[in-house]
Formats: sequence, C-alpha cells, structure tokens
Amino acid sequence: MIQFELHYSVWEKGKGQMNRVGAALFFIMVNQVQQVDGCWQSSKGDSSGASNSSGESSKESSRCSTPVVDSDRSDRLREKIRKRIDSGDRWFSLEFFPPRTTSGAVNLISRFDRMGSGGPLFVDITWHPAGDPGSDKETSSMMIASTAVNYCGLESVLHLTCCNQNKEKISGYLAKAKHLGLKNIMALRGDPVGDDWENEEGGFSYAIDLVRHIRSEFDEYFDICVAGYPTGHPEAKSYEQDLRHLKEKVDAGADFVITQLFFRADTFLKFLDDCRAIGITCPILPGIFPIQGYQSLRQLVKLSKLEVPEEITKVIEPIKDNDAAIRNYGIHQAVRMCRVLLESGKVPGLHFYTLNREVATMEVLRQLGLWIEDPR
Ligand SMILES: Cc1cc2nc3c(=O)[nH]c(=O)nc-3n(C[C@H](O)[C@H](O)[C@H](O)COP(=O)(O)OP(=O)(O)OC[C@H]3O[C@@H](n4cnc5c(N)ncnc54)[C@H](O)[C@@H]3O)c2cc1C
Repeated sequence: MIQFELHYSVWEKGKGQMNRVGAALFFIMVNQVQQVDGCWQSSKGDSSGASNSSGESSKESSRCSTPVVDSDRSDRLREKIRKRIDSGDRWFSLEFFPPRTTSGAVNLISRFDRMGSGGPLFVDITWHPAGDPGSDKETSSMMIASTAVNYCGLESVLHLTCCNQNKEKISGYLAKAKHLGLKNIMALRGDPVGDDWENEEGGFSYAIDLVRHIRSEFDEYFDICVAGYPTGHPEAKSYEQDLRHLKEKVDAGADFVITQLFFRADTFLKFLDDCRAIGITCPILPGIFPIQGYQSLRQLVKLSKLEVPEEITKVIEPIKDNDAAIRNYGIHQAVRMCRVLLESGKVPGLHFYTLNREVATMEVLRQLGLWIEDPR
C-alpha cells in the first residue's frame, strides 16, 4: 500500500524528476528485507546476510554477506579525505535527517539530486532511535542512506547510536548496512532515554564501545567517524576530559571527527589546536550551521545545550519574525566564519548541517566558491 502511494506521489511530481527519484524508490522496494527471528535476510532470496539464522551476528557471517553494490574498499572515504588534504583541494559535506513521511522521502531524494550536483565529498544521514531508523521503511535512516549511495551516487555516512541497544541489535544494523552497500558509519552514543538510564547488560555505555565493536566485528570494512565538541560535551566533567575521551575514540579506530556546531571560528580553531596538542592527528571537520530561522535556531541550541553569542542574539532578536532577514543574516554570518576557517590554513573541508533545506547552504557554498555547478 505504501509502495503504491509512493509510486503515485512520485508520478504526480512529474516526469522531470521521475527517472532518478523513481529509480531510487524502486530500489528501496526491491531491497526491502524481512525480519526473521530478530535478524534480517534479503527478500531477493539471498541468504548470505550477515546475521545467521539464530539471530547472532558474527565476524565470520558478516564477512560473507553480499552487498547489493560492489564492496570494493579501494576508494575509501578516509582515503578521499586524505587525498584532498594532501592536494590542498577544499571540499564540503552535507548532513540530512530522515523524513517523517513518504512524500518527505520523495522530496529528500530529489534534494540529494540537486545538492549532489554541487559536488559534496559525502552526505550523512542522522539516526533517531524513536523513528525506526534501521527498518525497511522508505523513511528510515538505513533506506535513505542506502538510496543516497546506490541511486544518487553519493558517498554516504550512516549515523548509528548505541545507547539503549544490545550487541545483537547493533550487529544486525551493521550487517544490514553492509549488505546495502553502506561503507561509512558515524559511531555515536546518542542521548539515553530517561534520567535513570543504566547501561543494559552487554550493551554500550559510550560511543567508544561502538567503535570497538565495529572494529572487532567488521575489521576495517567500515570507515568510522565520531563526534567532537568544540566547547566540550554538555555532560563532560571538563573540556579537557572530554578531549581525552575523544582521543580514546580515535585511538580505538575512528578515522575522522565531525564537530558539533559552533558560532565563532576561534572556538573551532582553539579546539583543533587542543586536539592536535594531545595527539589527535586524524581529520577534524567543523560542523557549520547556517542560521536559517529563529525557531530552528532556538530548538537546536536547546537540544545541543549551546549558547548563542551575544553578538548574534543582538542582531537576530529584532528581526526574529522576518524569516528572509534571518536567513540572509545566517548566510552572511556563516560565510564570514567559514572564510576565517579556510584562511587559517588548518581547515580543508567544511561539514554543513542543512536541516534538509537547500537555499542557505547552497548560497554559503557559492559565496565561498566551493559549489561546483553540475560536475557530473
Ligand atoms: C556531528 C554529530 C552528529 C550527531 N548525530 C546524531 C544522530 O544522528 N542521532 C542522535 O541521536 N544524536 C546525534 N548526535 C548527538 C549525540 O548523540 C549526543 O551529543 C550524545 O549526548 C553524545 O554522543 P557521543 O557519541 O558524542 O558520545 P560519547 O563520545 O560517548 O560521549 C558522551 C559523554 O560521555 C563522556 N565519555 C566518553 N567516554 C567516556 C568514558 N570512557 N568514561 C566516562 N565518560 C566518558 C564524554 O566526555 C561525553 O561527555 C550527534 C552529535 C554530533 C556532534
């Protein structure tokens, strides 16, 4: 039923979009997999999935899974990043979140097409435990990330949170991601549900446990990214201790870091220097958030427990009901901050929190000269 509605809504959107978007949705449908005893197997009769019939995922079984697309790991994301750093070429990447509705999925896939044409090095898809992120639904993180890589031709990073999860569940998600041709994971703890959260037996306490689990179950198959916090994670005992925990995640096998958003270039540059000083040598990508609206800014800073600097609140408070003015200011502020980062010579790539919108991010990238018009 959902499949029919999706086809219909895609058709309604017109033939212009039909080829790629329709193909992407067709891909989701043919690759829908069936849950069997809490694990998964392909509905196409491919029984070589990463989980065995008892629901256990093992190193052995994950190795013999058959990805939908080629599993050649010669052109890894971590290598692509390294090559860009060595050549001095600047790049950008884009974060999206999974949509709530099937029509939202259609819109997002067409957005991948439009924003993919600007030449991002990769896109990443967030993971929200309440939204059935590992399922076969058209709106799940798993399916959206898989569509981005397999049908939109975009290098993709799938976020995965591990708190409130057990090892079998996490191994199942990873095996499924591998089967669907996903090669990069952003390993996160996530935010535990409830104040009295306690680690489940055999579960995960911190993101480092997930990094270790991925390396132990899947060797070097996945490239791994982890989160960094330029002003320290809000729960951390101190900024310094949080940095040490970041180093532990990298030492455990993470390939690169993406940071929480921040509002001043100096905040990131200090963080970068502090990371280097304690021996974190991997690429660290600054998370750039072009302010796009008053409410979305308020919501995001509340969620991330960040403070908006006074020089920004002073400008946006008087124009808070004027969406266009806020967006223009956001573009101006982001361009100015990104220029300082790029001119520092320490920042070769920028990571954008798009909030699934395109105008502001594309304009910032155009003004920075990073947007490539139709590179395909
Ligand atoms: C770039 C980015 C992307 C994100 N994407 C998502 C997403 O898709 N979905 C989502 O739900 N959330 C997402 N988040 C939010 C994230 O899940 C939360 O910030 C969460 O509270 C911490 O996750 P983490 O992976 O950074 O945790 P961790 O690295 O585990 O750190 C969490 C806290 O524990 C401390 N800590 C770490 N290791 C230890 C240790 N061994 N002993 C004691 N303390 C320790 C750290 O200092 C920190 O205070 C994202 C955040 C960022 C920056």
